[in-house]
Amino acid sequence: MSVTLSKNPYTGKNIKSYKNHTPEEVTEIIKAADERFQQWRETSFPQRAELMLAAAEELKKNKHEYAETMTAEMGKPISQALAEIEKCAWVCEYYAENAEKQLRNEEIDTDADKSYVRYEPLGAILAVMPWNYPYWQVFRFAAPALMAGNVGLLKHASNVFGCALNIEKIFKRAGFPDHCFTTLLVGSDRVESILENPRIKAATLTGSGPAGASVASIAGKNIKKTVLELGGSNALIVLKDCDMEKTLEICVNARFQNTGQSCIAGKRLLLHTDIADEFITKLKEKVSRLKSGDPTDEDTFIGTLARTDLAEDLEKQLKESVRSGAKVLLGGKRKEAYFEPTILTNVTKDMAVFKEETFGPLLSVTTFETLEEAIALSNDSKFGLGVSVFTQDVDAIEKYIPQFEEGAVFINELVKSDPRLPFGGIKESGYGRELSEHGIREFLNRKTVYINR
Ligand code: NAP
Repeated sequence: MSVTLSKNPYTGKNIKSYKNHTPEEVTEIIKAADERFQQWRETSFPQRAELMLAAAEELKKNKHEYAETMTAEMGKPISQALAEIEKCAWVCEYYAENAEKQLRNEEIDTDADKSYVRYEPLGAILAVMPWNYPYWQVFRFAAPALMAGNVGLLKHASNVFGCALNIEKIFKRAGFPDHCFTTLLVGSDRVESILENPRIKAATLTGSGPAGASVASIAGKNIKKTVLELGGSNALIVLKDCDMEKTLEICVNARFQNTGQSCIAGKRLLLHTDIADEFITKLKEKVSRLKSGDPTDEDTFIGTLARTDLAEDLEKQLKESVRSGAKVLLGGKRKEAYFEPTILTNVTKDMAVFKEETFGPLLSVTTFETLEEAIALSNDSKFGLGVSVFTQDVDAIEKYIPQFEEGAVFINELVKSDPRLPFGGIKESGYGRELSEHGIREFLNRKTVYINR
């Protein structure tokens, strides 16, 4: 019997062991999802919206229960875990209110008496999801997918199976019919056979590049659409005319919230040389005051990483960069899954912490003299998820927006996800978009209708 173990990264203790679904059980679940789809697709938008609003209510009503599982399984400080659950309720409400108008027929003026595009669901969609935002990443897929008339199958990261089962429970408690949304308890070695099942119509993956490449190639061989949301190494570009206090506040949040484990975290701080000394002194002060500790304490801001091997990977990147000349200004030490909030200065573009994604509380600092140099440094990355620029001359910076090779440019703000805005990247950060009307249209047939009388 194959099992998956959940382990608390803060206490080091085992939480629970889950019996994995057998291949036969998976085939049955996929069949049941496909059969449910045939009925679910016929439901009206108001019927779906009512259930989606009930899911939002369920999330809010039992947010402590759901947040506590997240904190235990992947170490997210409880205040941030509660905020994540509330954000999930928001995306449910957003799509309950907007899906119908986002998917209404689009009339197009042609030679026909009548021509239009109608949006139709595809069927059972597989979501391969990561542990870093174990509810949010799933809800931002599930809310639009279900509202569009698709059904969802979740293969969650193996360290958060408790959260995965909770998500299935949330939809059940909200009143969704069985098999509208189902969790598959399987490891990544089973994704290939799941994707090859003809009843699975498309897949989305959030996670690392190798996982994305593998899912995309299997889907490609089977002619199935994919959306990939992979890594990022966003720059935080600080110009000399920035509002320093506000910028410091935002940069600390951008890098250290979720203990630095976010694809859109600002990982590379690019500082104008004229303000570098003052900025770095104040930054060190602020970061050294971040409270690390027990993630179940409400005032803890920095928890452990989700797994010890992830903290070890970060340590390797740090050591390699220090060997190449980077200086540890703050932190730099690891104990089991805990990694101290760390600032590395003197970072150059050939170093590991600049070239690779760093998935933890480590901020690299590089200086520049001109805006052109800053943009080139920012673009000098295999990733292209987003960038933040801090300046008081907004009109001047707006002209440079086309030069950034990114899925998003945020001025005087950290890059963040918002149900109303499209989210996704270019280059090795992936393709396709989540959220907003762009996200809900990813897994749909855009059916062209042409009528002559
Ligand atoms: P990961 O291996 O990419 O895991 C993410 C999801 O993909 C999990 O459900 C995982 O399942 C599955 N998976 C892994 N390899 C797969 C494969 N070959 N085929 C199909 N599915 C596969 O991520 P990780 O190892 O936990 O974290 C490593 C790095 O990934 C991080 O350092 C970070 O750079 C990146 N990451 C990015 C994000 C993001 O938000 N963009 C989130 C998490 C991680 P199992 O858990 O069963 O292996």
